[in-house]
Amino acid sequence: MAGRIMKNDGYAAGSEITMLCSGCDGEQQHTIDTVTKLGRITKASCTVCGTASTFNRGVKTSVSGGKAPTAAPYDRNKKYRKGQAMTHSVFGRGEVTALVGDGKIDVLFGESTRRLIHAQE
Ligand SMILES: [Zn+2]
Repeated sequence: MAGRIMKNDGYAAGSEITMLCSGCDGEQQHTIDTVTKLGRITKASCTVCGTASTFNRGVKTSVSGGKAPTAAPYDRNKKYRKGQAMTHSVFGRGEVTALVGDGKIDVLFGESTRRLIHAQE
């Protein structure tokens, strides 16, 4: 069945999906670039700002900036939510991928995740 487009109950490359864009800091239309054989998204890019995100087993593993405006600088006193964007003085542009409790967040900078503090009094 060479050349046959894989169709299943998952996603298909080339279709569109609405998801959170850290570049736009909100829900945006994304084009699905690549999917696994099981229809899981491995790469999608924002149709508005061009920010591309890659995923592994449903977890975002890298984000490459498009032409999105610069995100607000990281502020340890601020309370972050998942998917929020920031600009770090050392690591550059990042996206909050998880709230790990105890005033800590995991932030994806390019292809590496750093644990930062937030919501400090
Ligand atoms: Zn965007």
